[in-house]
Amino acid sequence: MYGATVDLNDASLHALGIHRLEIPVPFLEAGGPANVYVIEDADGRNTLFDTGIGTSDGLAALRGQASEWGLDLRNLSRIIVSHGHLDHFGNAQLLSEESGAPVFVHDADVDKVLGEARFGTLLRKHQGYFLRLGVPADTLALMQAGADRSGNTVRYVERARLRALHDGDALHFRHFDAVVKHLPGHTPGLVCLWAEEPRFFFADDHVLARVSPNPVLDFCQGEGASKFRALSRYLDGARWVRDLEVHAILPGHGPAFTGHRELLDGLFEFYGRRQGKLHARLAESPASIFELLPTLYLRRDLPRLVLMLSEVLANVEVLEDQGRVAVVDPGAEIVRYAAR
Ligand SMILES: [Zn+2]
Ligand SMILES: [Zn+2]
Repeated sequence: MYGATVDLNDASLHALGIHRLEIPVPFLEAGGPANVYVIEDADGRNTLFDTGIGTSDGLAALRGQASEWGLDLRNLSRIIVSHGHLDHFGNAQLLSEESGAPVFVHDADVDKVLGEARFGTLLRKHQGYFLRLGVPADTLALMQAGADRSGNTVRYVERARLRALHDGDALHFRHFDAVVKHLPGHTPGLVCLWAEEPRFFFADDHVLARVSPNPVLDFCQGEGASKFRALSRYLDGARWVRDLEVHAILPGHGPAFTGHRELLDGLFEFYGRRQGKLHARLAESPASIFELLPTLYLRRDLPRLVLMLSEVLANVEVLEDQGRVAVVDPGAEIVRYAAR
């Protein structure tokens, strides 16, 4: 928890034609059940903002809660995917088949919803990159084995069902209008919806009350100079949201809340402290990303290793962008950073 939050009653959302369904997520990092927002269109149909995870529990929760509210999931005009994570797009293919509704996603996350960015595949393709981060070869082999073992019950979305979603796209609903806002960071193609009239910000995983946004290592823009710098981009987007005059944040996990400025200020401080620790460590001696893990984490945990490496790398990239650290020898086999 990074700041004080105030729950906003779901009943006040219904008056605006917004129905929040809570879909259980079987992994802790998500920060609780994922929200599906069913938003009433002017023509009697509904727009879906996110779909929940496609496990049998997830689908049962989605169907059960929709019927409780009298919502017909076959009567959809469009399915909008906020970003390419399973707990948000998992039922998109099935719901699209049942309703005939197209699936809207930003170009930069299309690889994820198509299933072309599975972690096992990425790890194999970018082995050299992880070795340069200083990950020992035997640890990398264990990470690869773990990634290949993880069962794949996901239904990805067929390309023919996809429609492009762009920053600035206008969306019309029964009770309000909204505009699509592309805010890369948590993923490269993450979008939020800004409804200026009720001053509601549909934030999915860009602003969450209980967890920081996990700036996960991403290769959609390559490994080199063009590499996607998740946390740097995230912080730019978070500063933009901070300055919005928001009545309520409708997040991807948990109930609607107010007090986003205090929350985001707390988050900026949280990352500032992490960057301070990494900078202090690098002032002692140069280190690789792998060697920096103990600076932020008490112990290494293999299933979470990629998240840990992502978090360290993302914070070091911010320090690098600020000119506070630099790569010692860009040609070296293992890339090490030093404080400047
Ligand atoms: Zn996410
Ligand atoms: Zn999420």
